[in-house]
Amino acid sequence: MSLADAARTPHTSTADALLTVRGLHKRFGDNEVLRGIDLTLHRGEVVVLIGPSGSGKTTVLRALNGLETPDAGTIVVAGGPDIDFAPETPVSKRTRAQKRLALRDRSAMVFQHHNLFPHLSVLENVIEGPWRVQGRPKAEVVAEAQVLLARVGLADKADARPHELSGGQQQRVGIVRALALRPDLLLFDEPTSALDPELVGEVLLVIKELADEGWSMVVVTHELSFAREAADHVLFMDAGVVVEEGAPGDIFGAPQHERTKRFLTRIM
Ligand code: ADP
Repeated sequence: MSLADAARTPHTSTADALLTVRGLHKRFGDNEVLRGIDLTLHRGEVVVLIGPSGSGKTTVLRALNGLETPDAGTIVVAGGPDIDFAPETPVSKRTRAQKRLALRDRSAMVFQHHNLFPHLSVLENVIEGPWRVQGRPKAEVVAEAQVLLARVGLADKADARPHELSGGQQQRVGIVRALALRPDLLLFDEPTSALDPELVGEVLLVIKELADEGWSMVVVTHELSFAREAADHVLFMDAGVVVEEGAPGDIFGAPQHERTKRFLTRIM
């Protein structure tokens, strides 16, 4: 086995994995964006995806969250069925939609821009999913939302509108909104890249605390010091493939692949 092949070998067995992704492919027109992505995550682990812009990181997250339908590959979230994807045919449209929905239930995404509803209060934003979409009792959902808001230091902002909050506070609400869905898996898509630099730390701190508490998460980020501290496993993606993966100490300390070295030199 070559060094590059060794670096690409998934880190542990998939038998007891929370999330297993195999051979994920996705194309937009002529653009083959994902070209066979494999990823394994065990409960309580943090997997960080790094790589240049356009390498396919967001598309991986969107596929995991059921927002994008892959053309090929398999996604398995523990306890659920193996969800196999194939290119769309006239008869497969509904099946593909059902597969996306099955994934949507298991994970919750925190976006680069918080995507809060501007006309709803903070509390209403948080309870919208668990109450209206998941159909849980409102009183229970409100009580849980208040606990979660207090956890991220926003107990006194429950009745505020999003525009009355700082960018960092808005993003913390975005995180609470994801937690309120009680997902198995949290997905973060560059959660701090739209923030002013002085607000980045408070959001990363919340994510780090959630990781320490044992939440399972896949995080796309350019914050390498966060990745170094919080990740159990780092995947470096380029042009739709995982070029190299490993423990953060290995990827950042002794990258094997030229493309990884070039990327890290540019960004560090
Ligand atoms: P990254 O997150 O690594 O920056 P993305 O997953 O966002 O990469 O994008 C990978 C490639 O897929 C880019 O070339 C992007 O332009 C393209 N792409 C993403 N979403 C779409 C879409 N809905 N339609 C067409 N092209 C898309």
